[in-house]
Amino acid sequence: MTRRWLFGDQLGPHFVDGPDDSTDDGAQRVLMVESRQVFTRRRFHRAKAHLVLSAMRHRAAELGERCEYVAADTYAEALQGAGPLSVCRPTSYGAVRLVESLPDVEVLAPRGFATSMEDFGRWAGGRGSKRLLLEDFYRQSRARLGVLMDGADPVGGTWNLDAENRNPPPKNAVTLGVTTPWWPQEDEIDAQVRVDLDRWQAEGDVSFVGDDGPRRFAATRAEALQVLEDFVENRLAAFGPYEDAMLAGDTWMAHSTISAPMNLGLLDPVEVVERVERAYRDGLVPLSSAEGFVRQVIGWRDYVWHLYWHLGEDYRDRNFLGATNPVPQWFWDLDADAVQARCLSHVLREVKVNGWAHHIPRLMVLGNFAMQRGWDPQQVTAWFHNSFVDGYDWVMVPNVVGMSQYADGGVMATKPYAPGRAYIDRMSDFCKPCAYDPKVRVGEKACPFTAGYWAFLHRNRETLKGNFRLAQPMKGMDRLKDLEALVEQEAHRGAEAP
Ligand SMILES: Cc1cc2nc3c(=O)[nH]c(=O)nc-3n(C[C@H](O)[C@H](O)[C@H](O)COP(=O)(O)OP(=O)(O)OC[C@H]3O[C@@H](n4cnc5c(N)ncnc54)[C@H](O)[C@@H]3O)c2cc1C
Ligand code: SF4
Repeated sequence: MTRRWLFGDQLGPHFVDGPDDSTDDGAQRVLMVESRQVFTRRRFHRAKAHLVLSAMRHRAAELGERCEYVAADTYAEALQGAGPLSVCRPTSYGAVRLVESLPDVEVLAPRGFATSMEDFGRWAGGRGSKRLLLEDFYRQSRARLGVLMDGADPVGGTWNLDAENRNPPPKNAVTLGVTTPWWPQEDEIDAQVRVDLDRWQAEGDVSFVGDDGPRRFAATRAEALQVLEDFVENRLAAFGPYEDAMLAGDTWMAHSTISAPMNLGLLDPVEVVERVERAYRDGLVPLSSAEGFVRQVIGWRDYVWHLYWHLGEDYRDRNFLGATNPVPQWFWDLDADAVQARCLSHVLREVKVNGWAHHIPRLMVLGNFAMQRGWDPQQVTAWFHNSFVDGYDWVMVPNVVGMSQYADGGVMATKPYAPGRAYIDRMSDFCKPCAYDPKVRVGEKACPFTAGYWAFLHRNRETLKGNFRLAQPMKGMDRLKDLEALVEQEAHRGAEAP
């Protein structure tokens, strides 16, 4: 009898109990493999290792006798004599190669995304030489799925309310004033995971970075639904206007924290946006928040997923800016105490404690700093993949190589996201108490982001000269009287923690 092989990011009911999944003699039987080797290959955040193991073991417990759960060093070892299997197409090139190389394994279409491979292929193929714009992809997805639509038109008459969603944090606010997310309660499965991780570490072949606990992210379907419900009822209304804002006293702001459970396969993106649409139709949240959130889930998330496959396996090796500096040890170690720059230190600490920071700290603080310093984009991708609870190959490669490091030369972003201090100063409360001064370019108090921005433009002047969106900043750079001193200063600062 063919059993369904579930990877650790295929844990929701839709990976095993879909309409075509039952067998003649009852429910689909399941095989799950916990491979220790996965954890020896990288130095993962310990909270991420905990979350993944906890989620897999909870799922196996839920499936009960339907599931054989094999703990082994490698997949190959676990699969010996496993008999015929079917598996939903896994989420990385490496895993697809593995399942396709095995005899007696039927590979089904991927699940857990809102747009199928076929629909994306048709859309991309129909564009000829036009760019694969997120905005166009998002609109056709919304129309196809009928999300926030009134017949053929978008609800409210406009597709895009981004202009209402770019607010800085409220003046003098310490927090956004929304309730913190609903947190799961740990149980004996979590306790056993901790014991096992301690033992693996003590045995010496596995090492981790970051803190482990308490578990902040949903590891079961019931917890994931609770997180979604709590977000929709208590936090979604504030999501739209403040989705880009950062506050030192408010890690979570009005973000949903559902990337981790969604990437574990515990929630399906379509059910998520349907719940959000219902909240809008019931008058619970404004359209700007509902639309802003729907855009993230069936827009960005699916767009990134499809680009990962569409752009090919060697996309990850792109290095348009020729950045070759190694990621320094203090950054690998998430050593926030080594850093004086308040924004960077704060975000690094958030990552150390939670394995999570919201989109803007990832893009505009961490990724921006790495790009300004010319760090190797493949190392930066590995750093993000290791350090974030929601990091998987398919989502990290386009987000880091393309969106954050501009290593693809403009496939995902029309210009590098390398803003100087003005952006961070405007969108956060980091700068005022900082040891550096956001307006100072040269000298002891020179802000590493302000100076780093100009040094970045200077270093990449030739490579970026054709980018019309950078024409103004390039002109501005030529007018700087202290450019030479600034470039020398930044060369000296190098890989030091700022
Ligand atoms: C450098 C960089 C690395 C990132 N790495 C990851 C990653 O490893 N895993 C991950 O899920 N997201 C990643 N993102 C996207 C985004 O930052 C996170 O999805 C989001 O911060 C997760 O928190 P949340 O669930 O509270 O999201 P919310 O702000 O509440 O957004 C809702 C959902 O939208 C989806 N989403 C929004 N933007 C993206 C995007 N660019 N790519 C994929 N999904 C998106 C996520 O599923 C998220 O849960 C990355 C972004 C950048 C700039
Ligand atoms: S002054 Fe510069 S380093 Fe300090 S918080 Fe602001 S942007 Fe960051």
